[in-house]
Amino acid sequence: MNHLPPLAFCLSPLDRAEDIRRDKAGLAALMQQDAAAAILFMKGNPALAADSGLLRWPLAKALSLPQADAPILLGLEDGAPLYAVDLDPAMSPPADVEFTDTRMAAMQLPMSDTGILAQARSLIEWRRKHRFCANCGAPTQQIEAGRKRACSGCGSEHFPRVDPVAIMLVVKDDWCLLGRQEGWPPRMWSALAGFMEPGETIAQAAAREVYEESGITADPASAQMIADQPWPFASSLMLGLIIEAVTVDITVDPHEIEDARWFSRDEVRAMLDGTHPEVDVPPKIAIARRLLEAWGGQEAEAGPTIK
Ligand SMILES: [Zn+2]
Repeated sequence: MNHLPPLAFCLSPLDRAEDIRRDKAGLAALMQQDAAAAILFMKGNPALAADSGLLRWPLAKALSLPQADAPILLGLEDGAPLYAVDLDPAMSPPADVEFTDTRMAAMQLPMSDTGILAQARSLIEWRRKHRFCANCGAPTQQIEAGRKRACSGCGSEHFPRVDPVAIMLVVKDDWCLLGRQEGWPPRMWSALAGFMEPGETIAQAAAREVYEESGITADPASAQMIADQPWPFASSLMLGLIIEAVTVDITVDPHEIEDARWFSRDEVRAMLDGTHPEVDVPPKIAIARRLLEAWGGQEAEAGPTIK
């Protein structure tokens, strides 16, 4: 791991309150505390306070509004319980509350609030899609204040999903490979990425995805972990690597990406400075940019031109 500043969604000040989650009386008492607060969500978007932090409403006030499901205990913030409350999408938003797109919110929130946002949004989205048991089809109910769901039919317990995604900057000497997907803004290029499959290591997943998308062979043994990042759309965990290419000829799979190209380190530096004539790279909240910063900040090494 590197020593660059933390990425969005990676810091949280909360104690996740492990020791109280099986204590029903303790959980009930927690909800009665005057200091209990709620982060409000509607349709997957959080409410922000005027100072651009996440809005913290008194829990009792939040619970007076129609909700999509029970409140989720996120943890303790300076000892005070903090919940996520997902408001009924059919209701009109409260007059004094504005909801903001999660990506936009992540770009303006204090770093410690982005970790709370990642946790809350992932749990809400997981719950929305797991109201029925995958084992028997009966309805499930929230238990342990939202950390799990339990089936009313067969008793199975269901845990929140975390979906690992390998995202990798493929490099060869002083060059790196970027791709773009159909539907992205015209100038946008980024690192290749894909969901891990069962029965493979992170490095194997990275090499497989590189080959599938670009036709380039990368060496799993060269893979270096640079950073990781929760990415709550809906529950990904981004695993950021730099991996070395063994071959250089590109054959794009049009089912996977629209295009892929080699770019020089100088070009990457220009992209990061916002001065590249043709290419924009993802914003600061994205781990892909962190990979480019990590590699672009290294000293150039002599190597052949492969463009
Ligand atoms: Zn079941």
